[in-house]
Amino acid sequence: MATRKRGKRAARGSSSPLAEYKSKRDFAKTREPEGRVAGSRGTKKKLHFVIQKHAASHLHFDFRLELDGVMKSWAVPKGPSYDPKVRRLAMQVEDHPIEYNTFEGTIPEGEYGGGTVMLWDRGTYEAENGGGLEALRDGYERGDLKILMHGKRMEGGWVLVRMRTDDRGRSQWLLIKHRDEFADPDYDVVGDETTSVTTGRSMEEIGTKSRRVWSSNRTPRKSAAAPSRKKRATRSKR
Ligand code: MN
Repeated sequence: MATRKRGKRAARGSSSPLAEYKSKRDFAKTREPEGRVAGSRGTKKKLHFVIQKHAASHLHFDFRLELDGVMKSWAVPKGPSYDPKVRRLAMQVEDHPIEYNTFEGTIPEGEYGGGTVMLWDRGTYEAENGGGLEALRDGYERGDLKILMHGKRMEGGWVLVRMRTDDRGRSQWLLIKHRDEFADPDYDVVGDETTSVTTGRSMEEIGTKSRRVWSSNRTPRKSAAAPSRKKRATRSKR
């Protein structure tokens, strides 16, 4: 067990953090970004998160947190829950490039992850304890990552807890809402929010129109942005 960390670190040193991401994709066939590891953005820059709803062979939500130049990524089959008693399985997947944060469209059938990808939420996040980048790195390494999210649909405190890591280095985590003013066992965020946070499109609309959108304009439109979760929470919480 003690050798695992050392092995991982050695692997990281010998190849790009995005090597696995690139090896799984044929960029002549998919419109996903090839990407690169971003340089240091300093310790005071805000870190971004994105959640993509992905109708691949199984529908899931890709939960991505920017850390050290890449997007740490988890596949959450059922998506997040605002009920603090609910623990959602989050399977860690390969790091993605930061450029992936603007990807909405379709991945061709037969390619890795083939299916429709929707930008379901995005925003910034920080360490819940105010400890900054070091606290995030430490929490990630320890498998107890407590964060504050500032999105349209994801608000307040959440934690990712690592449960186990298999022989191939794949980790299973749990995504859990913290008890705070945003926690709400009656709010079905996944059921209620079914459109793109940037374009307002449904999965079906992205699936049928994305080819045209992506060939003509790579910048996601912002005109049809979804209403802020903050307003809803304020209303329901008095
Ligand atoms: Mn996915």
